[in-house]
Amino acid sequence: MLDKHLLVKLKSIVGKEDILTSKISREVYAYDSSPFIHEPEAVVFPETTAEVAEILKLSEAYSIPVVPRGAGTCLSGGAVSLYGGISLVLTKMDKILDIDTVNETALVETGVTNLNLQKAVEPLGFMFAPDPASQKAATIGGNVAECAGGIRGVKYGVTKDHVLGLEVVLPGGEIVTTGALASGYGFIPDLTGIFSGSEGTFGIITKILVKLTVMPETMRTMMAVFDSLDKAGEAVSAIIAKGIVPTTLEIMDKSMIRAVDDFLKLGFPRDAEAVLLLEVDGYEVEIDRQVDVIEEIFREKKASSVQSAKDRTEREKLWLARRSGNGALGRIKPAYMVQDITVPRHRLPQMLRFVSDISKKYDITIAQMAHAGDGNLHPHLLYDPDDPEEFERVEEASHEIFETALKMDGTLTGEHGIGLEKLPFMKLQFSEKDISFMKRVKKALDTNLNLNKGKVLEL
Ligand SMILES: Cc1cc2nc3c(=O)[nH]c(=O)nc-3n(C[C@H](O)[C@H](O)[C@H](O)COP(=O)(O)OP(=O)(O)OC[C@H]3O[C@@H](n4cnc5c(N)ncnc54)[C@H](O)[C@@H]3O)c2cc1C
Repeated sequence: MLDKHLLVKLKSIVGKEDILTSKISREVYAYDSSPFIHEPEAVVFPETTAEVAEILKLSEAYSIPVVPRGAGTCLSGGAVSLYGGISLVLTKMDKILDIDTVNETALVETGVTNLNLQKAVEPLGFMFAPDPASQKAATIGGNVAECAGGIRGVKYGVTKDHVLGLEVVLPGGEIVTTGALASGYGFIPDLTGIFSGSEGTFGIITKILVKLTVMPETMRTMMAVFDSLDKAGEAVSAIIAKGIVPTTLEIMDKSMIRAVDDFLKLGFPRDAEAVLLLEVDGYEVEIDRQVDVIEEIFREKKASSVQSAKDRTEREKLWLARRSGNGALGRIKPAYMVQDITVPRHRLPQMLRFVSDISKKYDITIAQMAHAGDGNLHPHLLYDPDDPEEFERVEEASHEIFETALKMDGTLTGEHGIGLEKLPFMKLQFSEKDISFMKRVKKALDTNLNLNKGKVLEL
């Protein structure tokens, strides 16, 4: 319980303007982007690593629960304050400290948004490859903590593949560094990986050394329309089987296509069962050949139309459609629960079909998009929060979806994390031994369990 005495101590660390305790502020920070709602007792905005360390010392001394938080775009309940305590919002730590174009790295504070980093490095001929659709708001610290992916994941990988080192404040307040920030390049052991995807349960990431990627010479964007999900899925497998690794390979189903078209009025094929959005990048000479092969595959798989973006404006239009999917669904129902299962790529059509059937079985609208190249599906289950009976059906449908994904040798989460949402299902995916190992690591780092307790692992 955060009494007056502790609030005074907190104010002495961050200053009175960096702490909120009013009812309305606590209500605002009770949410992330999942359906879970839990109010913190105080919302605190540290501006330096030293302040974070002091707060964690206080947390240890007085057993105050702390939940680190970036932009709160988490979709699995990771950023809500399950046990009250402090919501530690890191968005004021938002400086890009260094961009090194020779070594192709950038050193950033945790609260830099993904988009601001992209904007800073783009004019220098680089990109930060992980590009979650939430990039306008989501922080790099949040990206690391969730190991965020994005539409470029099929070629460039996910956040963990682009992190070279971290500065982390451990529970108790000790400041440590990992990877290239600890010992330069090429030395082991590199403990960076254990914080990647740890969902704020192992330590608070304060600085990140990221790898930058040189912008490709050219890119080509295409859209293919199909009258069946199966044919679209087969086209995905055929492209990969040819040894082509597209930068992005996204699929949208009929509900998603219609929602996006209603919103943006782009003249999308409203009767199509599936649309594939694809981009390839690299050197001009190789790209021409790849486009020929892909067009041939689309013909073989009976795409009803294939369109190539002629210029940057057309390319932007296609990606705007993909990025607007989540928001566009708000026109159909006020809320959605988005699932994040992955299945082996060859199972993609089967899983897409299964989700369509589930939609009928539970009488709910499910709009689907998927990072098809990675086998990572995002069924959006739409509901009205004022209709508890509908929400119950959405929950049951969700459970059936990820149980089926696991039966297909898939995973509970591809990029959105376990958080609170998938915690009860961890045993379906992991053996007792493996869960016990995770718990031992958690307890070794956070003996008193003050950091984001109740997420990912039952302790
Ligand atoms: C519209 C929309 C689209 C999205 N698209 C994608 C997508 O394409 N790909 C994808 O992977 N995800 C996506 N997400 C999910 C989400 O944006 C990502 O997980 C993102 O990385 C979270 O960043 P954040 O700054 O909002 O973190 P938060 O939501 O604030 O926190 C996420 C988790 O990280 C922990 N955390 C945050 N900062 C730190 C830190 N500095 N140190 C330790 N722990 C920390 C929190 O405790 C929490 O458990 C989407 C979400 C929305 C709402």
